[in-house]
Amino acid sequence: GKMEPTPLNPLIKEYVNLAFHGMRAGNDPINVDIDLDLDLDENVGEVSLIAEDFSRVILNLCNNAFDALKEKLTSRQQSGRQLSAESGNGYKPKLTIRTLAEPNTVTISIEDNGPGIPDEIKDKIMQPFFTTKKGTQGTGLGLSITNDIVKAHGGIMNIDSQPGQTIFTIKFNR
Ligand code: ADP
Ligand code: MG
Repeated sequence: GKMEPTPLNPLIKEYVNLAFHGMRAGNDPINVDIDLDLDLDENVGEVSLIAEDFSRVILNLCNNAFDALKEKLTSRQQSGRQLSAESGNGYKPKLTIRTLAEPNTVTISIEDNGPGIPDEIKDKIMQPFFTTKKGTQGTGLGLSITNDIVKAHGGIMNIDSQPGQTIFTIKFNR
């Protein structure tokens, strides 16, 4: 692929949907009902990128968020807690994707209300082959590839996480 002006919001929508379909098609025993919030700034317009590469950034970050949300659901189920949102103390898995246009920058953020990234591993998660996922579930390559693609586009990726919330933010100059 080559670098070319690409409408960013439609690309994000397309690949978030693809990630959702992939997640639902998986043979996961949990029926994951995720609340999706797409908050896309219509002033973002076109951004110069290699669509074929950049789409993997969206897929990887969404897939990690889904895994995190499933992990939190599973641990709540195992501890016998109520899952119903109507019960008042239920947990509703949520993925929020935002874009923001500023005069010289475009920001994309992907936020989940999963377990969060423990402090002890925060400085390791970008390393190739680092994974906390069991067996063949994780290759540990997603974030390192994602970070490489973001850098190749001249962008910066930041991670902000605490118990119950993880936000990956990508910023480009334009
Ligand atoms: P993989 O998904 O194959 O494990 P990644 O490089 O995509 O590899 O992610 C590395 C690790 O970072 C994951 O195993 C997980 O521990 C942690 N991680 C990534 N995204 C999240 C997230 N949204 N919430 C919690 N932990 C995360
Ligand atoms: Mg991953």
